[in-house]
Amino acid sequence: MAEDELTSLADHRRQRYAVHTVALDDGAVPGAASLFDTALTNGLLAIVEAEWPGETANARGFTKPASQLLTLIRDKIGSNRWIVTTLPAMPFPPDDRPTPIEVDLAVLEQAVTDTQSVRHGKAGGATTVPLDVVRALQELDFHDALSVLSDARIDQVELAEATAAAVEYDRVATYIELIGDEELARRADQASDALPFDPKERHDSAGIGLCPMCGHEALVISHVLEYGSEIGTCFACSHTVTEASVSEEEFSAMLRSHGHE
Ligand SMILES: [Zn+2]
Repeated sequence: MAEDELTSLADHRRQRYAVHTVALDDGAVPGAASLFDTALTNGLLAIVEAEWPGETANARGFTKPASQLLTLIRDKIGSNRWIVTTLPAMPFPPDDRPTPIEVDLAVLEQAVTDTQSVRHGKAGGATTVPLDVVRALQELDFHDALSVLSDARIDQVELAEATAAAVEYDRVATYIELIGDEELARRADQASDALPFDPKERHDSAGIGLCPMCGHEALVISHVLEYGSEIGTCFACSHTVTEASVSEEEFSAMLRSHGHE
């Protein structure tokens, strides 16, 4: 990837961290579990890529989830106490010392576990994110690779889209858990019923694609974006894929098509 494009991918991740952290607010908002996961994942990706380049992807080339990024950081620093930066001592009073900003990796790890069960539609998970976790997420911003929260330019549309996507994720996860794997697979098998009956119209339709939410070939595609991302609604799990929800894939595909990856 070219240097300038690497910067844009980093910018993209920083912006996603900022938008989702701001949307998460005090942790007691709709879609909190998913907002937290997206904010944390993107924040950690930006930091890990800056500190340990090339280690954000797993052996199969996929970007690592938050849980694996936290494990990686612990292995690198050999502790749960992660000093993301040290603020210099103020000139006064004369005995002032530099202040380390420390993030507890165990707190973030526990929060990932707690919010994961909500994100997978299981009862008993945390629907709100505790304040100490929200603070740990915000403290990541002290790291040089982020430093975006204080002057982030985030408009209301971005915040609304992030919240809508998080609420949609939590809704569908609960629905998938309700109907179960067998019923999901049965519905996925019938997805082509949603295509036009007329053979020619059917041939001309955008067809069926892979649903990013349930993993079945059941996404009834309404249209395809410039760099190949498919927009539509899943016949099996009801998940709606919007332009906002595929912005990341579309962005990566754009970089690839320009030969930078
Ligand atoms: Zn689906």
